[in-house]
Order: sequence, then structure tokens, then C-alpha cells
Amino acid sequence: MAAVVWAQPQETVKYGVKVQPGPMDTVLLKDYRPESSLVVPETHVAKARFPVIDVHTHTFMSNIRGPADVDEWVRTMDEVGIEKSIVFTGAVGEEFARQVELYLKRYPNRFQLWCAIDTHDIDAPDYPERVVRELERCYRMGARGVGELTDKGSGLQNESRPPGKRLHLDDPRLDPLWRKCAELKLPVNLHVADHPSCWRPLGPTQERTPDFQHFNLYGKDVLSYEELLARRDRLLARHPRTTFILCHLSNQGNDLAALARALDRFPNLYVDISARDYELGRQPRFARRFLEYYADRVLFGTDMGREAHMYRMWWRLLETPDEYMPGRIWWRHYGLELSPETLEKLYRGNALRILNWN
Ligand SMILES: [Zn+2]
Repeated sequence: MAAVVWAQPQETVKYGVKVQPGPMDTVLLKDYRPESSLVVPETHVAKARFPVIDVHTHTFMSNIRGPADVDEWVRTMDEVGIEKSIVFTGAVGEEFARQVELYLKRYPNRFQLWCAIDTHDIDAPDYPERVVRELERCYRMGARGVGELTDKGSGLQNESRPPGKRLHLDDPRLDPLWRKCAELKLPVNLHVADHPSCWRPLGPTQERTPDFQHFNLYGKDVLSYEELLARRDRLLARHPRTTFILCHLSNQGNDLAALARALDRFPNLYVDISARDYELGRQPRFARRFLEYYADRVLFGTDMGREAHMYRMWWRLLETPDEYMPGRIWWRHYGLELSPETLEKLYRGNALRILNWN
């Protein structure tokens, strides 16, 4: 594609001010880091108000290479107030067994492990049985949930395939798997679609900063955002007895009213807030109303590593009335000051109720 050349008008007035040339003209967007002069109260929340169950972490994202990293993670969890972490192992088979050894042998009460699913040879006639068999094997080894399973539009299968040959979440071949999850009371964490800005072009109107451009899907050979959510709905309707946790506010944090309609329609739908600090923090009043109203349907998760300051960013966002907090992307955050009742449900109550603790 040819490079786009943006015509410079002779005179531009922006914000009621005539734009004039200067040293700022050579600053690239990716390097722009304005320092705020705003002086406002800052609240340091060292430890969460209630013991927290973090329902969204990964071995990979948390950079866990061996037992010493697990020990260090548990120390940080103690410092910041995390009682338990749900770890998405991303594994089945031998690798799942290795991670059982790594986490559960020494810390049976601090971690819960979830498994992935078998996505090899999806066209083989035995696939629907095989995927269930491996799930049962992982369950016997200690898996207490399935996920995170991700479909950003190109399917769940492990190899890349053309449209029509892919395994999407509402594929009938997976129906036995979802039924088995209901039978074993294993909740499922699904990542459906992605932030809607991923389907918008990169360029001057792109909503998120350049740091997120590698997630962009515009013009790629993937299902549309709308199609992915429609498949989510078909799956939820077809398996009402299976508990589904749609992570990242089901990628509808930009439109909480639309997410509310989905929650009203599907009683088996729950969401986690992981990695969507910016969606909540940029619309604190509406987000607070949403979280207070759907307090029984939203779970706390991070998905952002295991640093103490990361956890404390969340406590400050959810618990305090602080304003104009630095965010991870362009937008500043504003504290939600959630009620103690809602905080308790978000932090642990819902996880204690809907996850499998047997
Ligand atoms: Zn994740």
C-alpha cells in the first residue's frame, strides 16, 4: 500500500489557537510523555481492603520459570493482599503435570490451576472425544477450570488455517467439551474478539497508542468483531449449564450498556476486568454504576504480570476517589471508590461462589 501523505493546510487553528511550527513538530507520538502539573490527592493503598482472588493470571505472563519465581510471587501476593491466584497454565498433557508439581505441591491453598484444551488434528473423527478425554485427565490431575481460550477471529486451532477450516468457539465439535465442563463444574474463561480498536485502521484516528499496534487486525483475514460476539452469544445460549467467564469485560468495556444487555440475556455469563483498567478508569461514574448493579457477575483478575505496583494500581483505581492517575495507555484513570459490598464480591465473593473449590 502506498504511504499516505497528509496535506498541510496553510494555516491551522486548533483549540482556538493558531498552530505554529516549533521543536514539538519532530516529537513522535510514541515518544510523547507529557508530565502533568496537576496537584491532586494521591492515595497509596498497599494492601487490598479484602483478601483477593485473582482469577486471571498466566504462567507465561507472570514470567514463572521455576520454584524460586513461585516463592517470590507468593511473597508479593502476601504483601498486596492476594489470597489466591488462578493460573492459566496454557497446557495439557505432560506440561500440565509439570505445572501441578510446580504450584500445587508446595502451595495447594494459594493457587488453582486451569488447563488448556487439545487443539491438534481438529478434523480427525475422534477429535470431539479426544478433547473431552484430555480434559478429564487434566481434571483428575487437579485442573479446576478451562482457559483462557482465545479467539480473536482466526480460531482456536494451533496451526493457522484458511477461513472455513478453523475451530471457532461455537463449533459443534466442541459441544461435548462444554457439556463435560458443566458436568465437572469447571468454569471456562474465554477471550472473545479483542479491544474494538483492533478492527479500526492504524493511523491518525486510531484510538489506542502505538504501543498496541501489534494487536491490530484491520484488513486481516479474521472474523469481524461483531461476528465474534454473535458466536459468543450462540455458544452461551446453547450451553446454559456451563459457566463462562468472558475475560477483559468480554471486550465490551467501551460499551458497558451493550455488555449489560448480554449479562441480562445470559445468566451463565460472567466477566473478569483483567487488563481493562483503562476502560473502567476512563469512565469512572458509569463504570461504578455498572459494577454496583452487576456486582454478582464481575470477577477481579489482572493478566498483567506479578509486580507489587501493578496490584496496587488496581487497589487505587477500585478503592479510592483519586483523579487523573497515570494509565497504561494514553488515557488517565479516575478512581471508582466502589462500595465495600461490591468490592468484596468483586475481589472474592463471586469467585468463591462460582469457581470449583473441591
Ligand atoms: Zn489472559
